[in-house]
Amino acid sequence: MKRFALAGNPNCGKTTLFNNLTGSTAHVGNWPGVTVDKREGVYKKLKEQIAIVDLPGIYSLSPYTPEEVVSRNYILDEKPDCVINVVDATNLERNLYLTTQLLEIDVPVIVALNMIDEVHKAGDKIDAAKLEQKIGVPVVAISALKSEGVDELMKRAYECSKTPRKATTVLEGGALIHLVRDCKIALEGAGVDNALFHAVKLVEMDEIEVAQHPQAALTVEKFKETFDDETFGSDFEAIVADSRYRYISQNYSKALVRGKKSGKDKLTASDKADRILTHRIWGIPIFLAILFAVFHLTFSEDFLYLGAMGALGKDWTSLQGMWGEGMFGSADGIASPGVILFNLLDHITSSISGAVSDAMTSGGVAQWATGFVVDGMLGGLFSVMSFLPQILVLFLFFSLLEDSGYMARVAFILDRIFRKFGLSGRAFMPMIMGFGCSVPAMVNTRTLADENERIATIRVIPFFSCGAKLPILTAVAGGIAQLTGMGNADLITYGMYLLGIVVAICAVLLMRSTTMRGDIPPFIMELPAYRMPQPYSLAMLLWDKVKHFIKKAFTIILASTIVIWFVSHFSFDWKFLTDDRINESILAGAGMLVQPLLTPLGFGSQLGEWGWVFVVAAITGLIAKENVIATFGTLAACISSSFVADEALGGVDSVAQMISATGIGVPALIAFIAFNMLTIPCFAAVATAKAEMPGKRKFNFTLLFWIATSYVVASMIYLIGQWWWTAFIWAAVWATVIAAVVLYNKGKLNFVDMKKRFEKNRE
Ligand code: GDP
Ligand code: MG
Repeated sequence: MKRFALAGNPNCGKTTLFNNLTGSTAHVGNWPGVTVDKREGVYKKLKEQIAIVDLPGIYSLSPYTPEEVVSRNYILDEKPDCVINVVDATNLERNLYLTTQLLEIDVPVIVALNMIDEVHKAGDKIDAAKLEQKIGVPVVAISALKSEGVDELMKRAYECSKTPRKATTVLEGGALIHLVRDCKIALEGAGVDNALFHAVKLVEMDEIEVAQHPQAALTVEKFKETFDDETFGSDFEAIVADSRYRYISQNYSKALVRGKKSGKDKLTASDKADRILTHRIWGIPIFLAILFAVFHLTFSEDFLYLGAMGALGKDWTSLQGMWGEGMFGSADGIASPGVILFNLLDHITSSISGAVSDAMTSGGVAQWATGFVVDGMLGGLFSVMSFLPQILVLFLFFSLLEDSGYMARVAFILDRIFRKFGLSGRAFMPMIMGFGCSVPAMVNTRTLADENERIATIRVIPFFSCGAKLPILTAVAGGIAQLTGMGNADLITYGMYLLGIVVAICAVLLMRSTTMRGDIPPFIMELPAYRMPQPYSLAMLLWDKVKHFIKKAFTIILASTIVIWFVSHFSFDWKFLTDDRINESILAGAGMLVQPLLTPLGFGSQLGEWGWVFVVAAITGLIAKENVIATFGTLAACISSSFVADEALGGVDSVAQMISATGIGVPALIAFIAFNMLTIPCFAAVATAKAEMPGKRKFNFTLLFWIATSYVVASMIYLIGQWWWTAFIWAAVWATVIAAVVLYNKGKLNFVDMKKRFEKNRE
């Protein structure tokens, strides 16, 4: 099968084109660096099937970061049959810089002038035929988004792939061409493939090349001594870059016709928006406010603050009766869209559990079997499932912010602050992805150039609460709201997300000033254009989430809840236990064994007879974080009958009742959320972290780091919440740590020296 590779700058629409060609639903985002690994699909509309490879975005073929190396090596080593060079036509000059380098490789190249729809919208024109004639490879104008010109592109790419292409360089006629030729001949003599490409890179003094061909590099060095350009001296890299740009402006300006309206108005609109959104002072408060609005829309039960203002008329309360209790709100206020969807699904799932339970009972099925199906399977499964709507609503908002280009602005605003903590703004993108799932987020850290920055970022990514942790947050926060009569859980959820971010920042600061030191590379991510989010791609993204969630629910989570049900219904001597004797089960026994360890966190030995459920839930969360609530759901469905006579099965209510039956207080509940949020993430994330870490030791330390952080932060929350004056003790502890770090960094506190001195004294 022929292979065509998509290469181009970040954010020029490669993945959009890839999805269009192959019918896949890979993640498209409006910021540079979404795709960090190559990805394959098949194009089927030609006589023969073609494998399409989507590569990470690159600005040039001299790579700095691990993801850029992926692209370069793919094109050079795997020798695709054709390289489709996707260029952003609204930014032609800069995008063609990469094109001039691709032309130096012995591979058929075709240029896809993408986003032609935007060029036309701005009133400009690009003459593809003229450009083609100038640069000597086929040029096809397309819009990957609107599927314009895509088939034509593939037809021509297919033609193109039939004949091999000899590399050309734009340095022809320049001062360095003789040196390039000498190097090329030397490399060819040594049997090197793509001699012209490597020769040019050698002349540019590309680090990788110099290391690979030291002999030829010597020739360049020698020539350098005798060379003196009037503007650039002997800076060959600059001379080469200059010739590339000169070539581009000579050839492309003839193909570009600027229209009369030439995007002036559009530019200023986006500039105006940027002036506010990326403001030095207001940028961050605006971001926090937008984030709060998102949480409010997802979690609030008093959406319009009518309840809080006491403005809720009686009419609303009577209206609810038609739709089931409190579906759209309660006497406390009108529910937000997220909560309404939650209520709706909850209503459906509890009707199903009720119906199944009734049917089984009236059908004369044994009581334990009914219990197994309704409590063991449905109870756990539904308690997790009911959070799907809120997860989707939250994702929808995050994707809207991302697609519009706003998130890239946030990275830009945060860069200034991140820098103080030893990270670049670039690290913000994988962190934001962490709100979805830690696994792709950790992989995405490959866009970071400094290895220590990368390790530090991977370690804190789980602190950005992922979709699977959302049910923990919502259920427990909902429990708190119910128990305290607070009504509104959105502030707690928002607060917990912020807590995760703050802990991440503090942890990074600590790491970057001790074990993970390193330079912060300059922030070179450019701001993408503001774009209208695409309903289709949003829908695909959400649909992917739904599929993934349901698959997980019916595999890992269902299996875990079944196991939980069994070990909670058998005693150590394998006798079956009825629901009211769960405290004698294997599960309870094991939980109680570990429970004392968590006493400083507030959900240990101080709790009543059901206290062990917290430990057990946290442990099942190591497999998948949804399990924490699934475990609660299963156990609550079983035991709720022990403390409340006739309560509806499943759902958050019985979970809240179980929570209150343990006698746990609010600080301990918050500590419990924090513990689960910060501790070792799920199995999949741990495996990814291991794969992305450079060494076993670093990975082991990472596990330790997660345990320590969650333990310390959770106990801080519990102790301060319970006894406010312990805040002084914590302050003293942290002041000591900070002082030690500062002194150590100033060289006043040298542990190695101290150890040596200590050893000397002993002798
Ligand atoms: P990649 O980084 O090169 O893979 O780029 P993506 O495929 O992730 O796309 C980046 C952004 O450009 C997304 O917001 C897309 O919706 C948008 N985009 C891609 N192709 C087109 C196009 O042909 N026209 C317009 N108007 N937008 C596009
Ligand atoms: Mg991409």
